[in-house]
Amino acid sequence: MKEVRVLYWFRTDLRLHDSPALQAALDLKPAVLYPIFTFDPHYVYLSKGSGNRWQFLLDCQKDLSKSINKLNPKSRLFVLREAPQTVLPKIFKAWRITHLVFERDTDAYARERDQVVSDLAKEAGVETVTRYGRTLWDSDAIVAKNGGKPTMSMAQLQAAGKKVGEIPRPLPAPTSLPDPGETTLDFEQELPDSNPDFNIPVREGEFRPYKAGIAGPNGDYAPEELEELGFPPATTPHRGGETRALKMLDHIMADEEYTAKFQKPKTSPAAFEPQSTTLLSPHHHFGSLSPRLFYWCVQDLASRFKGASSPPESLTGQLLFRDMYFAAQAAIGSTFTQTYNNPYCRFIPWHLPSKVKEGTEAGTESISAERWFHRWKAGVTGFPWIDALMRQLKHDGWIHHLGRHSVACFLTRGGCYVHWERGADVFEEWLIDHEPACNAGNWQWLSCTAFFSQYFRCYSPIAFGQKWDKEGLFVRHWVPELKNLDEKYIYEPWRAPQSALDKAHVRLEGDGMGGGDDGKREEGTYPEPMMDFNERRKVCLDAMKTAYQVGINGNDVRVKNGTWREIFDAAGQGEMEEEDKASFSDADVVLADDVEHGSHKRKVQAKREGPMDRHFKKMKEET
Ligand SMILES: Cc1cc2nc3c(=O)[nH]c(=O)nc-3n(C[C@H](O)[C@H](O)[C@H](O)COP(=O)(O)OP(=O)(O)OC[C@H]3O[C@@H](n4cnc5c(N)ncnc54)[C@H](O)[C@@H]3O)c2cc1C
Repeated sequence: MKEVRVLYWFRTDLRLHDSPALQAALDLKPAVLYPIFTFDPHYVYLSKGSGNRWQFLLDCQKDLSKSINKLNPKSRLFVLREAPQTVLPKIFKAWRITHLVFERDTDAYARERDQVVSDLAKEAGVETVTRYGRTLWDSDAIVAKNGGKPTMSMAQLQAAGKKVGEIPRPLPAPTSLPDPGETTLDFEQELPDSNPDFNIPVREGEFRPYKAGIAGPNGDYAPEELEELGFPPATTPHRGGETRALKMLDHIMADEEYTAKFQKPKTSPAAFEPQSTTLLSPHHHFGSLSPRLFYWCVQDLASRFKGASSPPESLTGQLLFRDMYFAAQAAIGSTFTQTYNNPYCRFIPWHLPSKVKEGTEAGTESISAERWFHRWKAGVTGFPWIDALMRQLKHDGWIHHLGRHSVACFLTRGGCYVHWERGADVFEEWLIDHEPACNAGNWQWLSCTAFFSQYFRCYSPIAFGQKWDKEGLFVRHWVPELKNLDEKYIYEPWRAPQSALDKAHVRLEGDGMGGGDDGKREEGTYPEPMMDFNERRKVCLDAMKTAYQVGINGNDVRVKNGTWREIFDAAGQGEMEEEDKASFSDADVVLADDVEHGSHKRKVQAKREGPMDRHFKKMKEET
């Protein structure tokens, strides 16, 4: 019988525990097993990503390599510096591979790539074996049990999940691994196309791995250092690796009360060092922690704990949200991450349209919205709560879920009326846990374009922060310009009398942009608020009301041929810049923090805010 020679292709499953695909590879009883990772140019050039996320990936690779090496001193993670589509067929031949094994990935690009690679494997006489393991249930099985449709609500996910069957129990990590075979190469490295490269502005230097030969600068297939990838040192304190993830899980499980009674709406977005939620999301993204292991640890504890919380608020409920977005994406495919041509995403003529993908530019152009977008990204909106969150996001690559709610609502339907894809694009660049399905799905939720439709529930950039952190410790940490400001004004510095500003050694002036787009802040100054939030909220609500009345989705022919403009004009919404178009009253606006979890019995009326103070008025008079 021909000996079995397995190429095990690690991607977003950078772990040894609970890996159904790795188990399938071992079940083949291979004579040799090569654990490999390929540097896929799609993620290098076409998908945005900051150094923080690359550092997390490198941490995961190094940790995994060490763990493999512990099980078999002859083995480790072999990192190949070439596109999988070109390098794998050559490797099949050079290393006499009989089986290619990997964990399935339902992201739109990954599906396409995996199909190409599987076809090439077939041509080379190599058998492809795949298993799912990224989610609690197999996303494709969920879609099938949901009538072939995307799961657009938790109820649909849970109903389909019931039909698929119980979430499988986690598998143990292997206790041994076969030797790898020969790793010599008899072919040249093929350089991938580096044009376009969306990450040029993010990197400081050149992305060098493709210049170092397939096996890297030392010819040993070792993982890279961040510097070789052209990035400055990571700023995030959150680091990757399966070993770290398992320790974090142990730590969380040791606090039984916290874990069993976890209620997401009660966790504070203003908590930092430590944060109030688990911070396991980047580990789920890179696969350094299996979602099924996490699920069953929590579920087993909850089932013996009196007063344990339940989905959707519980920790297991959080993982269900993740599965819901994955299955939605699995059904819709590549258009899931955009409005254009997406039959499930409501079309809204935002005042700053998407520029993310060609052909998705429908919308009106507003100079103010463009300016607001840049100030939002730079964390200099003049609303300290929003600025603190955006600065934490850029520096740490992670913010609390309700913090994400605040900034996403503010950028879209609750302030700036900017296309959600613009915000999702910034999150793609900065998040260490960026997950195409979860990012797009949550942005759709927050912009009320899919999953959630209560557009009149809006986050106040003032009252919401105040609710969690009256003293403003979170703001003081991330917006040090305001660190000495009296508690009374920390969320609304424009209300502070001159004496309070003088005492805090801060001047309110300018737009914080230092004449550019990158938010260079002048010492001792903090910007004026970039808009009158009350006025903007009303403009946005009125515009959303019209969009809901018009009621067309991204795949509507009128979106594609541009005639959407006529229906919106007829509905009285051409350009929505005028402040007096508002028809909603403050009484319609409630704080939206607990809406996601369906527990919004408490109807909190938003605090009525008077007109902005003299600083803001003065600014308006001057412009
Ligand atoms: C605008 C916006 C964009 C987002 N983008 C992403 C993203 O790119 N990647 C990502 O993983 N999450 C994203 N989320 C969801 C959520 O904010 C993060 O998963 C969560 O904050 C991660 O922190 P945690 O691990 O402490 O979560 P916990 O509250 O401890 O939850 C446990 C796990 O459940 C999962 N989870 C929790 N909430 C959600 C959710 N709403 N949707 C999907 N999965 C969830 C995560 O894997 C998380 O690790 C986004 C949310 C918003 C509002």
